[in-house]
Amino acid sequence: MQNSSEQPPLLVLENFIGGKFTPCRSHVDSYDPSTGEVHCRVPDSGKEEVDAAVDAAKEAFPDWSACSPQQRADILNKLADLIDANVEEFVRAESKDQGKTLTFARTVDIPRSAYNFRYFASSVLYHTTDCSQMEHAGCLNYTVRCPVGVAGLISPWNFPLYLLTWKIAPAVAMGNTVVAKPSEMTSVTAWLLCKLLQEAGVPPGVVNIVFGTGPRAGDALVGHPDVPLISFTGSTATARRITERSAPFCKKLSLELGGKNPALVFADADLERCVETTIRSSFYNQGEVCLCTSRIYVERSIYAEFLEKFVAAARKWKTGAPSDPSSDNGALISKEHLEKVRSFVALAKSEGATIHCGEGVDQLDLPERNRSGYFMPATVISGVADGSRVMQEEIFGPVTCVSPFDTEDEAVARGNGVRYGLSATVWSRDVGRVHRVAQRLQAGVIWTNCWLVRDLNLPFGGLKSSGVGREGGKDSYHFFTEVKSITIKH
Ligand code: NAD
Repeated sequence: MQNSSEQPPLLVLENFIGGKFTPCRSHVDSYDPSTGEVHCRVPDSGKEEVDAAVDAAKEAFPDWSACSPQQRADILNKLADLIDANVEEFVRAESKDQGKTLTFARTVDIPRSAYNFRYFASSVLYHTTDCSQMEHAGCLNYTVRCPVGVAGLISPWNFPLYLLTWKIAPAVAMGNTVVAKPSEMTSVTAWLLCKLLQEAGVPPGVVNIVFGTGPRAGDALVGHPDVPLISFTGSTATARRITERSAPFCKKLSLELGGKNPALVFADADLERCVETTIRSSFYNQGEVCLCTSRIYVERSIYAEFLEKFVAAARKWKTGAPSDPSSDNGALISKEHLEKVRSFVALAKSEGATIHCGEGVDQLDLPERNRSGYFMPATVISGVADGSRVMQEEIFGPVTCVSPFDTEDEAVARGNGVRYGLSATVWSRDVGRVHRVAQRLQAGVIWTNCWLVRDLNLPFGGLKSSGVGREGGKDSYHFFTEVKSITIKH
């Protein structure tokens, strides 16, 4: 018998294949990052489970692709309504699984997941294709777009449901069927979503979710000959493996990868707004956002003032229990990740940098039950050389480096001086400069005097090692469909 001090039984997830929950023989542990305790067991799926999911998706494809966009849109809107109706259950699960605060999951992750379905349910109704006439040849030409087939979707742990639905929604709106594999570290909200699919009217086999690790379940999906398209969000290292693995099959790939994003702060910037926003852009979601700022270049004449204000604001950015409404940040995803992020701070220190606040400087005041969680305070570093690994590699935690610059050319060159090219921010009141610098920066997404303002109609993706392809709006439509040119002689 359980007494009141005992933990609730562990949640054991099942795969969702062909519209049914299907048990798996083996499992991996999933941790609550805020306590360090195992809270869930996730199927350790492999080839067998992936093959079954692909078969179910193939079987569902003819009927689903034959539905009208309006029929599919109605179902996706219903699914969005059901997420809204169950919002608190999703919020609690996302926070427990990922470590982020309840407030963050409630205001960002879950509403955006519902919106992903609404957005693509609406946009799929309004896409147009091309048409042209060749008078000299007496031909009318036009294009049609057709769904590709079974889409393989692989997502990371930082925005578990948000990024998974960013893939599922456009894929199924365009008439594909899918096999999705969320991160093994954050699978619970995807499993909760499966419970709503039938109620929303998603036919069996249209959305299949296979849980498990990258090297087993992910690899089996990427290597499956009947999955012609892979949409992947995750690290650049994994993307390389996926590219190699899928090359013999000539698959269509969309790769949304890591970043090492600069902020360029010019002397004429609105400093208050810049500091307030750059604190968010550096530390939002524990710094576990691919778009987070991790290198801040500040024009020398305002460098000292910026640094003072920025460090003061970072000290106020509270890291604490995810359930505490006053916490700005919760816990990092895992012990290994926490150690990796800390190791970058140690490396900076060993190279002679100054740690102004955060790791090793400020103590966290955590409730008893969170003392074994993976928490780390907002950390600001200066005095790191551009060539250091700290300035070159993605840290993906609440750590940012600040450095002065003297000229616009220097700022742009240093901003571009990494192998990544995902996002950048530019702070200046000079309209001419803002346009000039934005054009010169090597990044797929550039924000000026703001950060993370997302218009889903715009292409999203990275340059250089930050990605291949774009998703969002028309780009998702193009990626999740194949175009055919048809010529008719009259
Ligand atoms: P990861 O690459 O370790 O894992 C991502 C997903 O790939 C997981 O589901 C994982 O199980 C799977 N995977 C791992 N190995 C695989 C393999 N060999 N074959 C197939 N699948 C495999 O990334 P992560 O640590 O989960 O996420 C953090 C990374 O994601 C960071 O680099 C971050 O910048 C990036 N990210 C990018 C974006 C973007 O839109 N550009 C958004 C969020 C996160």
